[in-house]
Amino acid sequence: MKTIGIIGGMSFESTIEYYRIINEEINKRLGSLHSAKMLIESYDFDEIEKLQAAENWTKLTDILIKSAKKLEKAGADYIAIATNTMHLMADDVQKNIQIPLIHITEAAANIIKSENINTVALFGTIYTMTKPFYKDKLKNDFNINVIIPETFEQEIINDVIYNELCKGIIKDSSKEKLHKIIENCKLKGAKALVLGCTELPNIIKESNIENVKIINTTQAHCLEIANKIIN
Ligand code: GLU
Repeated sequence: MKTIGIIGGMSFESTIEYYRIINEEINKRLGSLHSAKMLIESYDFDEIEKLQAAENWTKLTDILIKSAKKLEKAGADYIAIATNTMHLMADDVQKNIQIPLIHITEAAANIIKSENINTVALFGTIYTMTKPFYKDKLKNDFNINVIIPETFEQEIINDVIYNELCKGIIKDSSKEKLHKIIENCKLKGAKALVLGCTELPNIIKESNIENVKIINTTQAHCLEIANKIIN
């Protein structure tokens, strides 16, 4: 088995899920007492969030590259960044290491394509919804059309992510607000909803949504990681 190096703690609420899903998947496939060979570099998310809010992407790029190199030196065969937002720097990270980076957007796009879906709505942080790095990759590399929620809806989603989900808070009132936004996206033609934030699966569950396929990027990323380390 190969070793995955995870850059996580953004937030720890989703890195916990990475640890659980990857290990469960490896055990499901290999049986016995098998579990994943994994290294985790976990940040103090408060420091990261402040740099995001200040749009200091240069500093954040340096931090991510430093971690990726550290994990590579420690023996990782692959690198994964356990957040959608920080894939803003994925290309820069990949350029600075010799081992492959397993990209979350590619993992999600492969699932969308396998469902023969070509129009999706994208929920995530304000950065993921408004900056080109995520939607352009879906459009240009996979020919997937992306519907972005209205500005006031983006603010609601972003607020739920940073002020609730990243702190482990799940509120029914927020669930209802998110479901309303999903309904609006369906009216605009979305056939799937990309949960483009690794904490969103903690509040949006496939079983509660009708007529739209839920693309859980945390799950997609973890399954791709499991595939890579045992193949
Ligand atoms: N985990 C989230 C994501 O997938 C948001 C936290 C962050 O800003 O990294 O985008």
